[in-house]
Amino acid sequence: MILEVDAIDTYYGETQALFGASLAIAHAKVFALLGPNGAGKTTMLRSILGLTRPRRGAVRFDGREVTREPTHEIARAGIGWVPDDRRLCPTLSVARNLAIAQKRTRFRRWTVKEASEIFSPLAYLMERDCENLSGGEMQMVAIARALVGSPGLVLFDEPSQGLAPKIVGDVLATITRMKQEGIASLVVEQNAEIALSVADHAAVLDRGRIVWTGEAAALREDRGLRQRLLGVH
Ligand code: ATP
Repeated sequence: MILEVDAIDTYYGETQALFGASLAIAHAKVFALLGPNGAGKTTMLRSILGLTRPRRGAVRFDGREVTREPTHEIARAGIGWVPDDRRLCPTLSVARNLAIAQKRTRFRRWTVKEASEIFSPLAYLMERDCENLSGGEMQMVAIARALVGSPGLVLFDEPSQGLAPKIVGDVLATITRMKQEGIASLVVEQNAEIALSVADHAAVLDRGRIVWTGEAAALREDRGLRQRLLGVH
């Protein structure tokens, strides 16, 4: 397993957001984490990255416990993050944003050039300041930034949010390509159909608890199960 989350309890102050939540992601597989608004999906990503530290339980990345390590060490260990609001440096160029990310990384599997070639249009945007990019272009830069960190796993928070269907298709194709390159993904989505279209495995969160986990195909193919777990067709 590239990632094992073992029975974590995560709190915001006194409010508990995750209750004994576990999941396991195999090397080079795509895992969809589904569930309604407020279920705890983003909290799961924050817990993995050490941004909101679990109070109990453990997070192991590639066999090594990272539960109490600082976020920058967890990232350097090989976990990339594509946040829903992208968090690029707006006044810097695409090239600078990617170069800064590469400076922080320990491994050099992906050069800035290779990462930017994963989306063909990105090569033409390298000198553009990030604040002048469209939402879809920002998403591409955020993914390329995760790649220059040479990750073994990339966490995607609502990658389809606010994007045109064509761009969503590009993002999904990239997740599949990353998988062919040996990179696993954890895709958090409210839109189950989108995440399930690329996922190998899936889990459903409901009010902070994992209520189902299994093969993505089981959810894709069983409308009744999807309806029962997610209230969607
Ligand atoms: P969404 O799709 O709306 O982002 P989510 O499944 O990602 O939903 P979380 O954002 O992880 O859910 O939120 C889980 C619970 O934790 C919710 O009840 C939410 O109100 C609470 N929560 C999230 N962030 C904070 C915070 N910074 N402080 C206090 N409570 C929070």
